[in-house]
Amino acid sequence: MKGHCLCGAVTFQSPVAREIGVCHCGYCRRWSGGPMLAVHCGPDVQFSGSECIEIYASSQWAERAFCKNCGTHLYYKLLATGEYFVPAGAFESTDFELASQIYIDNKPNYYSFANQTPTLTEQQVLEQFAPPGGETAV
Ligand SMILES: [Zn+2]
Ligand SMILES: [Zn+2]
Repeated sequence: MKGHCLCGAVTFQSPVAREIGVCHCGYCRRWSGGPMLAVHCGPDVQFSGSECIEIYASSQWAERAFCKNCGTHLYYKLLATGEYFVPAGAFESTDFELASQIYIDNKPNYYSFANQTPTLTEQQVLEQFAPPGGETAV
């Protein structure tokens, strides 16, 4: 699957993946301006245009990258596993399904999706994914 940023300076290629996870957490909403809709791509995503990729270390556990030139969000990456979560809108394909929603209890009241998906609360996310020590992997 191929994709690119708004200005075209950064292009990328990912193994085929279909599932979009939505994150309603406050960090993703601040970063994106809305909930983050990201495709779970695994660790094997290749980016070109590295001179235009700016990486922001958003926590001890994860980093977020964007195009320096146009600001397009390129990925959220979990450092422990090297897994990439790439915003669905950056792909050429739209052949995805909304598979899950996390931090559902942090979602503000001014929107909600009609899609019926499994949901996880903040507490459930931390129990399933957070490393011991309890810091959120934002
Ligand atoms: Zn760009
Ligand atoms: Zn989030």
